[in-house]
Amino acid sequence: MIVVSCMRQTDREHHDHEAARHSHEAAWGSPQVRERLRTTRAFVLDLDGTLVLTDRTNSSYIPLPGAIALTRWLASRGVPFVMFTNGTTKTPHAYARTLAETGFTLNEASVMTPAVSAAELFARRGYRRVMVLGNDGLTGPLRAAGIEVVPPAREQAGRAGVDAVLAGWYREFSMDTLEVACDAVWQGARLFSCSQSVFFATADGKALGTSRAISAMIRSITGCRIEVVGKPSLHALRSAARRLGVRPAELAVVGDDPELEVPMAHRGGALAVAVGTGVGTTSAFARLPRARRPHLMMAGIGDLLDLCQELGDPTRDRRKS
Ligand SMILES: [Mg+2]
Repeated sequence: MIVVSCMRQTDREHHDHEAARHSHEAAWGSPQVRERLRTTRAFVLDLDGTLVLTDRTNSSYIPLPGAIALTRWLASRGVPFVMFTNGTTKTPHAYARTLAETGFTLNEASVMTPAVSAAELFARRGYRRVMVLGNDGLTGPLRAAGIEVVPPAREQAGRAGVDAVLAGWYREFSMDTLEVACDAVWQGARLFSCSQSVFFATADGKALGTSRAISAMIRSITGCRIEVVGKPSLHALRSAARRLGVRPAELAVVGDDPELEVPMAHRGGALAVAVGTGVGTTSAFARLPRARRPHLMMAGIGDLLDLCQELGDPTRDRRKS
């Protein structure tokens, strides 16, 4: 009797141990994924729904639990990171200023937007004149890269020589704007969108983005193709990797949107980390085809910090490489 009882106790302990291991791996990753996270050389962090929530006009930030602490932890260990938002309401410098005032540890080069990846792409392709459907958040980085910004005004209609039309955050969009932008496309300009996501996460729930709505109208009328310059494009990931001085496959990409950060990470061979504090629920990520699911699914950015701390100081391994 004693022997049987002991066996049952051992079986139960083994079963409990296995159940705990599976549950731990679901929440904290397999040993292979944990090793990848431990040796990740740099991070690309999303803003809305990952590090912060904003109001619907994108004017003020509420940090999510653990977000500020994560940036401090990374900075204290010399682990480089950028915050890459598909938002273009502000220039990267203006985002950085507001985030620093909110308490985040970062510098002016720590924030990237699709305007940055667009400027790099346009320069590589030799585009000189770009019609911008957006405000300072778009025009600033393009002008800084030496690109002539063409306003979507009636006097521009019929003028040739616009290389590209770029759609971003632009709630002032009107039927006149649509007509001028379509004219530019009919005369040979290529159409680019900062983001094709329908919504972004705010403190008041989902809010409609403008890039997709605007570019959908132009495509519907002209039949042109839309090229995305923000997440989840490889343009965006490579641009972030260049700034961080690593290869895309050496990055961890962290975000809340099942259509943005996780697909971008998979495209570039990076580690894909999802958080459940924005537009994507845990079940939305679980419904993705297996090959497109995140490597790590965290409840929030605070859990990622806990896991990084649990894995210890990874800088020793980075310095070796
Ligand atoms: Mg987001």
